[in-house]
Amino acid sequence: MTRSAPSAPPPPPDGAAPDPTGVPDGGPAGPEGLGRPRLPSPLQEVREPAFERRGLRLLLKRDDLIHPLVGGNKWRKLAPNLRAAAESGAPALLTFGGAYSNHLRATAAAGRLLGLPTIGVVRGDELADRPLNPSLAHCRADGMRLWFVTRAEYRRRREEAWLAELRERFGPVYVVPEGGSNTAAVEGCVALGEELRGLADVAAVACGTGGTLAGMAAGGPPAVGVPVLRGGFLAAEVRGLQEEAFGAPRGDWRLAEGFHFGGYARTAPELTRFADDFEQRHGVAVERVYVAKLLYALTALAETGDLPPGAAVAAVVTGAPDPLTGP
Ligand SMILES: *Cc1c(COP(=O)(O)O)cnc(C)c1O
Repeated sequence: MTRSAPSAPPPPPDGAAPDPTGVPDGGPAGPEGLGRPRLPSPLQEVREPAFERRGLRLLLKRDDLIHPLVGGNKWRKLAPNLRAAAESGAPALLTFGGAYSNHLRATAAAGRLLGLPTIGVVRGDELADRPLNPSLAHCRADGMRLWFVTRAEYRRRREEAWLAELRERFGPVYVVPEGGSNTAAVEGCVALGEELRGLADVAAVACGTGGTLAGMAAGGPPAVGVPVLRGGFLAAEVRGLQEEAFGAPRGDWRLAEGFHFGGYARTAPELTRFADDFEQRHGVAVERVYVAKLLYALTALAETGDLPPGAAVAAVVTGAPDPLTGP
């Protein structure tokens, strides 16, 4: 099957102190090479009438400020994977995403900063013959090799057999799953929950793959996840990720369904108005695919009395608006 299992880094020469980072000299760097992240990320209270009317407090957990290029939850999920990739000695990192994937963008940026070659397997072979959209163009400019596959192939992204084929093609790559959500990523997000302990009574986050929620809920206060995709599959995903990472479900979490506005990257005038207003009132730029839906959902839950009375509610700002594609 695989002539592709990454080989372990060589042991230190006799007498040399073992490198505490496990990174071979001159080999690929771990996340330290990205520069110092801003952690713990700032927690900022904002005054929102819908919350104040109910005696609730709204706190913004500013993960968007962690790193200028590998920001938000992508830093928390990628950093442990970059460490593992460096330790594995694999010469390149391969991952998966859609045409507008923030995860692909963050991975490409990290790869450029670390000198680690990256390969992005992109859903949609029809894209191969078109001019790249701004997001993918940015990935390529950061040195990511883009590999377009059919939707049928993309659905096989978790199958060992297909991963083996990809390793045949690209060599002994370190593979990070779609959205960056694997056990290392979930463990990386535990710290997000821990940073909120004692400071918030409820922690809320928008969900794509659910990896951030899975980790945050394990380490922090009771959690609410707001799915931005349709489909109702997310609870099982989060449970699966927690079982993989911790051996069992962890923490107290639930999903607030019904705020996806039709699905991934779908929007509505009402949501746009809400996000524009929020930005103006608080001077905080609101990313529209995830963060706008989170803040909208929390406001609705506050109004319907679905948050614990008197609670301090932390909303995780998981990313900043995309400078290429707008808010
Ligand atoms: C990727 C992303 C998410 C989703 O995180 P998951 O761990 O996949 O649920 C949320 N917010 C922003 C801004 C993102 O880029």
